[in-house]
Amino acid sequence: MTASLIDGKAFAADIRAKVAEHVVRLKEKHGIVPGLAVVLVGEDPASAVYVRNKGKQTVEVGMKSVEHMLAEDASEADLLALIETLNVDPEIHGILVQLPLPDHIDSDKVINAIDPAKDVDGFHISNVGLLGTGQKSMVPCTPLGCLMMLRDHFGDLSGLNAVVVGRSNIVGKPMAQLLLGESCTVTMTHSRTKNIQDVCCQADIIVAAVGRAEMVTADWIKPGAVVIDVGINRIAPEEGATKGRLVGDVDFKSVSEIAGAITPVPGGVGPMTIACLLANTITACARANGLSEPEGLTV
Ligand code: NDP
Repeated sequence: MTASLIDGKAFAADIRAKVAEHVVRLKEKHGIVPGLAVVLVGEDPASAVYVRNKGKQTVEVGMKSVEHMLAEDASEADLLALIETLNVDPEIHGILVQLPLPDHIDSDKVINAIDPAKDVDGFHISNVGLLGTGQKSMVPCTPLGCLMMLRDHFGDLSGLNAVVVGRSNIVGKPMAQLLLGESCTVTMTHSRTKNIQDVCCQADIIVAAVGRAEMVTADWIKPGAVVIDVGINRIAPEEGATKGRLVGDVDFKSVSEIAGAITPVPGGVGPMTIACLLANTITACARANGLSEPEGLTV
């Protein structure tokens, strides 16, 4: 392996430590306890694990964690009523509705019912618009984590060629906006992109957010490029193994022989996402109380 490893696990631990320091300061100087509410509808096992992890880490940094578990058949009206209650609750500074929601609920309607100031996922249409126009917003957690790691690696990203693979609203599009905000030359690619390999070969930075196991291989990479792997894919157990393993959208083994730096899966972007959720909750809390925003926890 020639690439240096970008250790998201260690980076995330550092962010959580900074968040915890801010929580102490908020409590001691201002008597404020930042609060995060997470709402889960249904019993999807993967979502339940995410929600449990979020709650655990929220408590570990000293914040108040509130979890609302609604039944799979909860109505849209019930969910909207809960959000309205959380919107006006002064002890709640961040609200996250775990996606995906059951089919009978309109996700856009629910997300846009969250007070944008408490929208710590950064998915509300107001925050999307603010980010797109380069204004202060709540920044979606996964792209925020990716940008923090890229800034740490490069310092100045200005003028670099960045290719984002995947154009989802939660990762690809906000990632491209953030990179544009750093004055990168940004190319977005997706399932209809022609000659995607050639496009990627021009990149100083590749962010892969596709959901296809090990799709990006060494022959897509310019020597020395920095590769951020957002993908989380569980592959079938190999011969002799009982459990499948998690892999990214990047073929780590081959790409790490040519890239300059790379995030692993697991231990790269994943831990950063929850750390950035906690960071966003602190930012939201500071803004709600007219306090200066904590440094190093947002962009
Ligand atoms: P989506 O399914 O919403 O979007 C996938 C994107 O990839 C689409 O834009 C799609 O293009 C594009 N795509 C699909 N196939 C190809 C292909 N062959 N070539 C090029 N582009 C392709 O996924 P998400 O953005 O939500 O998630 C992407 C991955 O990141 C998943 O593995 C997910 O689990 C992971 N993830 C990880 C997080 C973390 O914390 N680490 C957080 C969020 C997601 P088109 O639009 O044309 O269909």
